[in-house]
Amino acid sequence: MIEDEPEIRRFVRLALESEGLEVFEAITLQRGLIDSATRRPELVVLDLGLPDGDGLDFIREFRGWSQAPVLVLSAREGEERKVQALDAGADDYLVKPFGVAELLARVRVQLRRRGGGGNDADPVLRFGDVAVDRALRTVTRGHEELHLTPIEYRLLQELCNAPGRVLTHQHLLKAVWGPSHADDVHYVRVHMANLRKKIEADPNRPQWLVTEAGVGYRLKT
Ligand code: CA
Repeated sequence: MIEDEPEIRRFVRLALESEGLEVFEAITLQRGLIDSATRRPELVVLDLGLPDGDGLDFIREFRGWSQAPVLVLSAREGEERKVQALDAGADDYLVKPFGVAELLARVRVQLRRRGGGGNDADPVLRFGDVAVDRALRTVTRGHEELHLTPIEYRLLQELCNAPGRVLTHQHLLKAVWGPSHADDVHYVRVHMANLRKKIEADPNRPQWLVTEAGVGYRLKT
């Protein structure tokens, strides 16, 4: 955990230790980089506003040698910063103030994802009655095979490759449409709406393809 506010450090430490996790604390960006290089954490909890620098710089450096999940703690006014952190390689964020249950739920998702072996795991990802077979490129719901357009499939595939992780509009646009469409956020909205009609029991209250307001989408598994 890299965080300069003592109350938050204490709060996060107690919560994670109650889950049986071992917690190491760093107060500065520099110390956080050194400790994470030597201790090789399974997960990093990162504050963005550190006394000696910007948490975004930590993420960029850390991603040079580690794929361990990074959970960002952001201030409520920091919408733009959240998006920057995700685009820099963070996996998820929590807005301060947050509760123990929320923190632990997010941590569990990230640790489970890591334990699953990422992209090298089972090509079939299941959530609810939906199964996405990334080897055969088929999607079934119950016993019925769904007919997705190529764009819908690529959008779903991108989310399935990072279950639980928030993917920003920019990330999805680049991955599915290419870098020249980085500003066409409405593309994502339109195709996500169509995808939800096929995947979700109630497309207006999606259970799996969840909106992160102002940021992007997440596959909730
Ligand atoms: Ca701070």
